[in-house]
Amino acid sequence: MSFVRMKGETLRRFAYTQIRMGVDTPIVVYAAQEAQAVEACRAAYTRISELEQQMSDYRVDSELNLLCRDAVGRWRRVSRELFYVLWRAHRLAQQTDGAFDPTVGALVRLWREARRTGQLPDPQTLQAARARSGYRLMELCLRRRAVRLKVEGMQLDLGGIAKGYACDHALRVLRRYGITRALIQMGGDIAAGDPPPDAPAWRIALAEGGETTLARGALSTSGSTEQFVEIGGARYAHIIDPRTGLGLTRLILARVRARDGITADSLATAAAVLGKSGIQRLQRLYKGAQIEVWEQAS
Ligand code: AMP
Ligand code: MG
Repeated sequence: MSFVRMKGETLRRFAYTQIRMGVDTPIVVYAAQEAQAVEACRAAYTRISELEQQMSDYRVDSELNLLCRDAVGRWRRVSRELFYVLWRAHRLAQQTDGAFDPTVGALVRLWREARRTGQLPDPQTLQAARARSGYRLMELCLRRRAVRLKVEGMQLDLGGIAKGYACDHALRVLRRYGITRALIQMGGDIAAGDPPPDAPAWRIALAEGGETTLARGALSTSGSTEQFVEIGGARYAHIIDPRTGLGLTRLILARVRARDGITADSLATAAAVLGKSGIQRLQRLYKGAQIEVWEQAS
């Protein structure tokens, strides 16, 4: 525990962790009082739970899953938050020509099954899931804040973007409680507010070793090195290559620094699919972001 004097006030460091959206979600804050830190972090975790209820593809009764059932062939109005995330995801899908695609849910389900059974889907099953994926099959109406799906059985999946968005919202909640010096991590996605009072930035340990710093921004890492299933000598990662319908098979790590979590998270997933040779256009579109990709030479 470190104590730092600031403007006559002693700020102390408080750290908590809970599981949200299926991952460990540590929050570190500096506050004058423990009660303030506890109350603020509780509210931040509650906010993330609300977003999880809106955006999870695991929860049968999430707003996202109700939408998948209700919006086939007809417009369905959705909450402001869900619409915004779907809109950002859809825009990135257009910008990456479908490398990032929030409609890959049916393929993600097949990947999860492959992880369970140790077998790849047969060609017909894969083909059927591919026919139910594709961002062009999801229509958004900005004016009505509504969504329409073109094909029965489509599964939307915001796994590549929602954690970053949740990190942004957690920081907003903490600010409402007077806490600006905060850091939150959800799996590979990290967002930071102001730095600790005695440092210019937060120090972040990197999974591959070494460390970096972060303040008032976000850092996301995606790739094929963490979650994968090994079948017939090949490794299929949990990120789907929409060109094959299967998990990425090459060894790749993408890291993005951006102003906010939703941008860093979604661009990191997109960059992992695009690979080193495919990120230039993305970098031109998102000038404020810093996109890096490490790839095993093939
Ligand atoms: P991340 O860890 O942020 O890179 O997100 C990976 C998650 O995004 C996966 O577990 C899926 O839920 C989802 N996903 C998989 N493939 C794609 C894709 N090509 N585009 C968008 N989301 C994807
Ligand atoms: Mg992501």
